[in-house]
Parts: sequence; structure tokens; C-alpha cells
Amino acid sequence: MRKRVFSGTRPTGRQHIGNYLGALQNYVELQEEYDCIYCIVDIHALTTLEDTDKLQENIYEMMLDWLAVGLDPQRSILFIQSHVPEVMELYTLLSMVTPLNWLLRVPTFKEKARLQPHNVNYGLVGYPVLMTADIVLYKAEVVPVGEDQLPHLELAREIARRFNSLFGHVFPEPQAKLTPFPLVLGLDGVQKMSKSYNNDIEMAATPQQILERVMTAVTDPARRYRSDSGHPEVCNVFQLQQSFNPLRAEEISTACRSANIGCVDCKELLAQGISSALEPFREKRGALAAKPHYIEEALSNGAGRAEAIARETLGEVKEKMGLVWASRLDLP
Ligand code: ADP
Repeated sequence: MRKRVFSGTRPTGRQHIGNYLGALQNYVELQEEYDCIYCIVDIHALTTLEDTDKLQENIYEMMLDWLAVGLDPQRSILFIQSHVPEVMELYTLLSMVTPLNWLLRVPTFKEKARLQPHNVNYGLVGYPVLMTADIVLYKAEVVPVGEDQLPHLELAREIARRFNSLFGHVFPEPQAKLTPFPLVLGLDGVQKMSKSYNNDIEMAATPQQILERVMTAVTDPARRYRSDSGHPEVCNVFQLQQSFNPLRAEEISTACRSANIGCVDCKELLAQGISSALEPFREKRGALAAKPHYIEEALSNGAGRAEAIARETLGEVKEKMGLVWASRLDLP
């Protein structure tokens, strides 16, 4: 039997090139060797969203991105988290075996509590438990994610291990799978690229939009004048050149060091590289946008296939936890 892969992304909007380089690339590649399950985690989105007006639109946009980048609903299960409600039951059950101090020390919890002090909700603390439930409900062994998710995955393994040792073996311990580019910095050159920090470039952006966004990128801070020699190894823009202009990266690096090329020229090259790398994606996305039936069918078929697996695991969990009702009516 092929091993199972699971990963989820919050539908906070369109996917950006950080999502692509850090996770989506692997989502697509792993389809060759594994049974893959990819989930649009709408319940997770509620931990930070106060306004849900755009939630359904975001889900749709994200699904367009996923299909256009090469996720194949014939091979992989693609579905929306809340459409398979078993995950919420497992989340509750796993919360009983998760010590609160494990959750309070998670760096992303501390960061989110800092960013939204007016909304430090219970779901925010439980985020890694829900993520664990997502993964282990499908007994996934491999989880393609970006580097920022590693602490969550470590916790998922600890929760699975604790459940197994308390109630008997049910869950494999899931391992992270990183891409060669597991942490893409945002255009500010400081924080990770993220929709929430407004420092991202959307995969679906037009060539003009890509150029405008790239032009705002912070480069090597030590290079103040065109005649200064640059330091590509610390430059955010150069990092992206390695992915989007791999064949010219060496040449760009030499030209930057010798001040033969300025930051504006370098950014223009990067914008061209991103635009042409994503051209087939943009075309496919445009064609898919005209086929809403196809998208809805893929999601509903995905939810059906996911639910069949989910029910089986949940039955096993309830039995191990002693939740199967022992009727006395049949006793003599
Ligand atoms: P965002 O932070 O933009 O809301 P998500 O948290 O929904 O993105 O992340 C979806 C997937 O993309 C996760 O596996 C995450 O690790 C990965 N990812 C997100 N941002 C980056 C980044 N800047 N670099 C590498 N991977 C990333």
C-alpha cells in the first residue's frame, strides 16, 4: 500500500510564491509516489478571521490555484475541512490527551497572541491539536509544509505518541517534508512571506503586478549606491533569483558583486523570471475559472472519499478510548 500524505492550507486568500516554493511544489510532486490528501482548512482560518464574508470566495480562489499548479483531483483527495466534520470530533478527543503547557509554549501561538491581543481565543491555543487531528485522522505519514510549521509537526508527533501510549497504537507519527526552499522571506526582507504581513507576491498576479511588487522589495541593506558592490548571499531578491532564474543566478551574482548590475536591473530580471515561470499557471487558472462545475465536483468527490477514511479511524479511536457503548439489554 502507498503511504499517505496530508497537508492543509488556510483559505486566507490567493496563494503566494512563498506557499508555492515552501509547500505547493511538494504537494504536486508527491502525487507521483503517495496517496495524497490536501485540505483547505477553513476551520483553522476562523482562529484569526473576525470577518468571514470572504471565506467562501477565498476557498474558491485557493482551489483555482491548487488545480492550476497541478494538483489532480483524479489522483489526490482535495476537500474542505469543515465538509468532513469527523475532524472536530477527533480534535475534541485529542484535546483530552494534550497538556495545556505543550500548547502555550508554541511560538506561533505567542506570535498570534501578540498580533491579535483583542482576540486570543481558545481555538488559537488549540490550533496545533486541530492540525494534529487533520493529519492523524487520515493516518498520514508524510506532511509537506514550510519551515514555519515544524514546531506544529513536532507537537503532532508528541500528541500521536501520547495517544498511542495511553490507549494503544492507532496513529503513525507524521514526518515533515520540506522543499529546498522551506522559508521564503517576504518583500520586506525581514519576516516570512505571508498574506498576513502584506509582503507577498500572489502566484496569480499579472506580469505588471509582479513587477510592481518586486520593485518594492528590500535588497542588500549595505548596498546604498549603484556603484557599491552587493552581497547576494544576504539579499532577499537574489534568493528568489535562484528559484526563478536558476540558469542566470551565477551570472547575476557575479554582476551584483562587481556592481555591474544595479538593484533595479536585478529586480526587473526577477520579475521577468517569475512572470515567465508562472505563465502556464496563469493560463490554466484562467481556463479553470470558467469551469465552476468541475471545481465543485472535485471538492464534493474529495469530501466523500476523505469522509470514508475519517469514519474508519474515528471508530477505531472511540473503541480504544472506551467510548463504545456497552449495552446491557442483551444480558441474560
Ligand atoms: P500564510 O502564512 O500566507 O497564511 P499558510 O500559513 O496558510 O500561509 O501556509 C500554507 C503552507 O505554505 C504551509 O505549509 C506553510 O508552511 C507554507 N508557507 C507559508 N508561507 C511560507 C513562506 N514564506 N516560506 C515557505 N513556506 C511557506
